[in-house]
Amino acid sequence: DKGLAVFTSGGDSQGMNAAVRACVRMAIYLGCKAYFIREGYQGMVDGGDNIQEANWASVSSIIHRGGTIIGSARCADFRERAGRLKAANNLVQKGITNLVIIGGDGSLTGANLFRQEWSSLLDELVKNGSITAAQQEKNSVLHIVGLVGSIDNDFCGTDMTIGTDSALHRIIEAIDAISSTAYSHQRTFIMEVMGRHCGYLSVVAGVISEADYVFLPEYPPPTDWPDKLVLKLEQERSAGQRLNIVIVAEGAMDREGNPITAEDVKKVIDERLKHDARITVLGHVQRGGNPSAFDRILACRMGAEATLALMEATKDSVPVVISLDGNQAVRVPLMECVERTQAVAKAMKEKRWADAVKLRGRS
Ligand code: ATP
Repeated sequence: DKGLAVFTSGGDSQGMNAAVRACVRMAIYLGCKAYFIREGYQGMVDGGDNIQEANWASVSSIIHRGGTIIGSARCADFRERAGRLKAANNLVQKGITNLVIIGGDGSLTGANLFRQEWSSLLDELVKNGSITAAQQEKNSVLHIVGLVGSIDNDFCGTDMTIGTDSALHRIIEAIDAISSTAYSHQRTFIMEVMGRHCGYLSVVAGVISEADYVFLPEYPPPTDWPDKLVLKLEQERSAGQRLNIVIVAEGAMDREGNPITAEDVKKVIDERLKHDARITVLGHVQRGGNPSAFDRILACRMGAEATLALMEATKDSVPVVISLDGNQAVRVPLMECVERTQAVAKAMKEKRWADAVKLRGRS
């Protein structure tokens, strides 16, 4: 008779639907009541039709769809205790004491705070007459499990986040398409890829597309990068190469912390090499489209494991996030991963690049 709800929060990514499906079906298989919460924390705060019981069929035919069918949102209300009080009331009214959060470090931080406050929120709800003492007793502990949906692969503690592989597919399809026209016309293409402060997408795309040069946030070049870039592209052309591909991560910068944009790179190439240079900014295409086979199976495994972790949780268990470790879906302490992720972001902001790489570790 346990109630379990799943929701997606923060930026969307391909594979979130596969994760939602796995959570719901594993919950039903284990005899729980499964719920969707639509529009992330906003739906939890607003309640009503946003919190809807799910059945086996309601998650049919979604495994292949990109984005998230239950919607995602950023929610200012949930950052305030008053918003979390409303959310707690809405959950208790449905008997939901198990949550799977599919989101980034912000969403997981919010969930952890909610869990810590849960008993005081329930005390307040009893006092103001919103719930009965019996409801409080029955729903006294909130269990949470996190899954990380992000195309950036910027979360510490997992080898891959849900959506990264699909984003790489979008990037590589675009580079392959552009390479054929670049070859015909001997052009140089400068591709801007996403990733915020994480260079994973840019560096992997660079390797698998045989790019000539990659600018990524964690390894900022010295300020004389234009000389090195020109030299490298000249070498490639004189060795008979008919095209050049340069990848610029959206957070790229030089060692002084000056941003390096696709326009900056184009300007250098225009002025010093006189190549026919073009910029392609992939933008939200990287978040779109169907999830790859890898993301589907990753999300299935993580979703099933998340539900199992919730069912096995006790009132003293530490909340976990489901991670990929090698080829295993494992449970790792949620706040440890969140804190490491936030420490990496801080180090990147403060331009302590080597510290950021060290802190991030294998992921
Ligand atoms: P992305 O990686 O795509 O940015 P995220 O989960 O980190 O995903 P955020 O915008 O940071 O995205 O957080 C999503 C939502 O989680 C916020 O709009 C807010 O409702 C909730 N949230 C984030 N941080 C907190 C917090 N410290 N306290 C309460 N709620 C929070």
